[in-house]
Amino acid sequence: MSLNKVRVRFAPSPTGPLHIGGLRTAIFNFLFARKNNGDFILRIEDTDKKREVTGAEKYIIESLNWCGIKVNEMPGVEDKRGPYRQSERNDVYKKHILRLIEKGKAYYAFDSAEELEWYRDGHKKKGKTFIYNWHNRLKLKNSLSMSSAEVESLINSKGKFVVRFKAPSKGFVKTSDIIRGNSEIDCRLLEDKVLIKADGTPTYHFANVVDDYEMGVTHVIRGEEWLPSLALHYLIYDAFNWGKPFFAHLPLILNPNGKGKLSKRTGENAGFSVFPLKWEHAGLRETGILPEALFNYLATLGSSSGNTGKTMSLKQLVEAFELNSVVSAAANFDFEKLKWYNHKHIQEKNSEKLLNDILELMPSLKDLDQLKLIKAIDLVKERATTLVDLWTLAEYLFFSPKQYNEKARKKVSLEVVKKLIALCEELESRNENKTNLLSLIKNWSNENNIPLGKVLISIRIIVVGEPSGIDLDKILSFIGFDEFVLRLNSFVKSAF
Ligand code: GLU
Repeated sequence: MSLNKVRVRFAPSPTGPLHIGGLRTAIFNFLFARKNNGDFILRIEDTDKKREVTGAEKYIIESLNWCGIKVNEMPGVEDKRGPYRQSERNDVYKKHILRLIEKGKAYYAFDSAEELEWYRDGHKKKGKTFIYNWHNRLKLKNSLSMSSAEVESLINSKGKFVVRFKAPSKGFVKTSDIIRGNSEIDCRLLEDKVLIKADGTPTYHFANVVDDYEMGVTHVIRGEEWLPSLALHYLIYDAFNWGKPFFAHLPLILNPNGKGKLSKRTGENAGFSVFPLKWEHAGLRETGILPEALFNYLATLGSSSGNTGKTMSLKQLVEAFELNSVVSAAANFDFEKLKWYNHKHIQEKNSEKLLNDILELMPSLKDLDQLKLIKAIDLVKERATTLVDLWTLAEYLFFSPKQYNEKARKKVSLEVVKKLIALCEELESRNENKTNLLSLIKNWSNENNIPLGKVLISIRIIVVGEPSGIDLDKILSFIGFDEFVLRLNSFVKSAF
């Protein structure tokens, strides 16, 4: 391996929305690229057209953007080693597969799907597994067992064929993984995997290796589910005589209870989404999660370098990132922990920026006074876990309660309310400065022997609708005297 510039790639298949697991893979690749001043490539692995889902590619790009993951090369951007969509690279695969066939490392196979099914069934009945490889390939219909004239005529007659990899019939393939160490796999156990399908397009394995080579990828950082493919990928590199990149297979992300891979359904049952953005249902963004919090939390999943128990900025995460600190044990996804990160990042973000985030989520708030909104965010943010909370906690500062908590309403004393209205009328007629409204009320209650506790809880329920909210003094100075009088009156109208 020469000391080339670090180049990594994130290579999702557009078969649906980007899952949190995929996003974590993208984040680790991005952190590694940043740490090493390398390039981060986005390659769309769309060779399986039947599984492609409309809108998935756009969703993936939007999710990366939202999380602040900057891509150096991708479809339409810095296309120097592109195209970056596999469906647009068929001529590249064609050129390489012909080379591999010429070198005797791959061969044409003409066995029909029915024939192969027949072999599989037959083996199954005998308690065996049919594997197309060294021990039977000469008995099957392929360019190794047939004459070149036959092969040529079959190809020219436009019959269906695939191209298979000719796995070695002896020896071991020694693989190496930065996270998991070395392994040895007996080549005799390997299948002659299909590299080019009957429709002429490449399989994942072939396109993936060819592209990593062609795009100069130095480090392949991907999910653990691809570890079983590593031996085959090694053999394909060797068959071409290509230098290999380094490999790092990231640990799985499990359901919160540690059982099974994190799934959409578990998320739904537990009340959270496993997708960053809306896809049919609300994603994490729509539930009020900040991208920097999601990024920070995912950076800790499976790695000790980001897992300091404190929030970390992108810069700090980049500095701390080490592939060697990635562990092989799977990590449980913990939504409560993500919310903890979110709460902390909300405290650290300035309120003007938080306002922008909130406006993106709730554009109707653009009609409110923006300066007042910033002030309100300042007042409530220490209690907020999500962006949605921020607005829920601030709403009463802008609008009178739509309804009053039933239990709390009973705590409001009608006598006190009537006296308060009388007090407000008097204050109005006296035309005095009412900015210190709460102290005026406190003095008044003192002078008139009205129990202060009763007054304060009544006021809180009248202005908030609930026995909750920030400091009453702050609420009253925020909403002002006129709004307070309006709320007193609407309470009286609705309650008595
Ligand atoms: N297209 C594969 C996926 O969807 C990429 C695997 C890899 O990174 O090699 O995850």
